[in-house]
Amino acid sequence: MAATTDDVSPGGILAGVRDFLSGLRRDLPALFGEPPAPPRRPRRDRAADPVRDFFQERVRHWSGAMEIVPNKVFLKNQRTRWGSCSVKGNLNFNRALAGAPAEVVDYVVIHELAHLREMNHSPRFWEIVDRWCPEQKAHRRWLRQNAGLLFGGRTTARRTGWRRSAGWAAGPAHP
Ligand SMILES: [Zn+2]
Repeated sequence: MAATTDDVSPGGILAGVRDFLSGLRRDLPALFGEPPAPPRRPRRDRAADPVRDFFQERVRHWSGAMEIVPNKVFLKNQRTRWGSCSVKGNLNFNRALAGAPAEVVDYVVIHELAHLREMNHSPRFWEIVDRWCPEQKAHRRWLRQNAGLLFGGRTTARRTGWRRSAGWAAGPAHP
């Protein structure tokens, strides 16, 4: 039953008093001897994410070297891509990639940064990648062979839907 000022039944009056008291308790907790609610934790604590910090550090490093500046860096939990980029200049990396050797992570970072110059897999694109990552072929092979490992060993590259050529025709694509 909703308590209104017109409800003068005993139940209605009681409900009105209860509402009034719970409002007071909420607005003036000190009246009831209760400590005020603790301040909310600062945003940066909630968002602590060492994996994201790691990717951002690698992006900063290569962004400086290649003189290609991305907009934002996001981590995704995807099954079919190691990385991608958007027309807004955002870079996305697969969280599972954090389990790869550092030089393989660097290859994917370089690959996605290079896409901000060349939104394709043209010879000019691979020229940029080669310049900064001469071992790129070995790293790509490592990724193809170890996709299952990076996804926790529960699944194989084939079952994740991983396809070497899946993104090659489209603009924003994956290594
Ligand atoms: Zn690509």
